Order: sequence, then structure tokens, then C-alpha cells
Amino acid sequence: MPEGVRPGLARQIRLPPATIAHVTESPLLLVDVDGVLNPLGGALPGFEVHECVVDGQTYRVQLNPGHGAALLALAADTGAELVWATTWEREANWWIGPPLGLPELPVVEVPGPALPGGGGEMFKTPHVAAYVKGRPFVWLDDHTWEPDEEYLRDHPGVGDFLLVHVSPRLGLTDADLEQARDWLKALDRRP
Ligand SMILES: [Mg+2]
Repeated sequence: MPEGVRPGLARQIRLPPATIAHVTESPLLLVDVDGVLNPLGGALPGFEVHECVVDGQTYRVQLNPGHGAALLALAADTGAELVWATTWEREANWWIGPPLGLPELPVVEVPGPALPGGGGEMFKTPHVAAYVKGRPFVWLDDHTWEPDEEYLRDHPGVGDFLLVHVSPRLGLTDADLEQARDWLKALDRRP
């Protein structure tokens, strides 16, 4: 197995129903950019290179328009709401969404510094925990690990979730999307 390429890591955490008030809102589908929609290895077939200028700095990303269609189909099939969870923050709606055919999406603000928390959780994880407000969610990211899972499991106001660990070199794969789809589809059948 090439270095850095790991099998998808998915975790499903459930809290007793009594710990969650009534979850009536749709599930969330949180999407990272770098390492997910923009694979960080070499050029990949099917991807197009785009130059993005943020705060005077130019970034090159490779994006696959098929990802946009796949995410929209997944959201439509499962009733999930797509949300950016990326250090691109609102810039994702300008530079990343349009080339993928995605509409403007809500954004989880993730102000830095980009340093792990006291439990080893990624800096974005507390912001995600504060955002979800009991709604079930799938998080597509290349930097979620056990400390993130533990942080979310123990955090008040966080209900059911699935962390789909995306390979940063491959980016979002069909298998990742199927994991998300299966979990979201099964939500309807849970007590
Ligand atoms: Mg990332």
C-alpha cells in the first residue's frame, strides 16, 4: 500500500436517544476541500487545474467536476444538506464550488490557529461540534482520527455522526461516497 494511502476509516457513533432532544432537521454532509475535493498528491486523471487567488496569494488546486455532481446526487438522495468545513471557509463558495457545479453552500467557520486541541483533536473539530447542534452528520475529511471521534462523541450537543476518512492522495472516492450514502440512508430506520 503506498505511503499515505490508508483504507477508508469510518466510525459510527451513537448516543442513547435520551441524550438527544428531537432531531427533526435534515442531516448534514460536511465537506473538506484540500485532500478531499483537491487531492494533494500528483495530478490525477479527470481533474482540472485551477488557480485561485486568496488574499493576494495564488493557490493551484485540482478539481474533478464529477465530485460536484456526485455530492449533489448524494444530498438529493438522502435529504442531507451540503456544508463546507474547510480552511477555505467562504472562499470555497467562490473558488471551489462553481467549477464543480455546486451552488453556494453554508460554511462552518474554522478560525485558526491550525493547531491540535488538548485532546489531540484537529482544530476544526470543536467548530464542527458547535455547528451541528444535534443534527446527524457525515464529515468527509482527510484529517479526522481517533481524537476527533472521541471529542465529538463526548461533546454535548453532538448526536449521530460518521467520520469518513478520505485519502488525501486519492481524494474523494466512490467508496467514500457509498459509505456516506449507506449511513445516511440507514438514519431513517433508526429508532
Ligand atoms: Mg483537508
